[in-house]
Amino acid sequence: MATCDFCGRVEDDEAKTLSWTTAVERGRKRVYCDECSRTHLRAMEGKLDSEWW
Ligand SMILES: [Zn+2]
Repeated sequence: MATCDFCGRVEDDEAKTLSWTTAVERGRKRVYCDECSRTHLRAMEGKLDSEWW
C-alpha cells in the first residue's frame, strides 16, 4: 500500500504504484502518485522541495 504525500491518494494495488515516484527530501521519504508525478515532473527535475510547488 502507498499513500501520495501530495494529494493524499491511497493505492492498495502495488502494481499500480510502480509508476509512482519516490523522492527523499531532507532525509524524509516522500511518495507521489502517477498523476502528481506528471503534474510536478518539471519541479521535481528542478530538485525543488515540494513546499515550493
Ligand atoms: Zn497524488
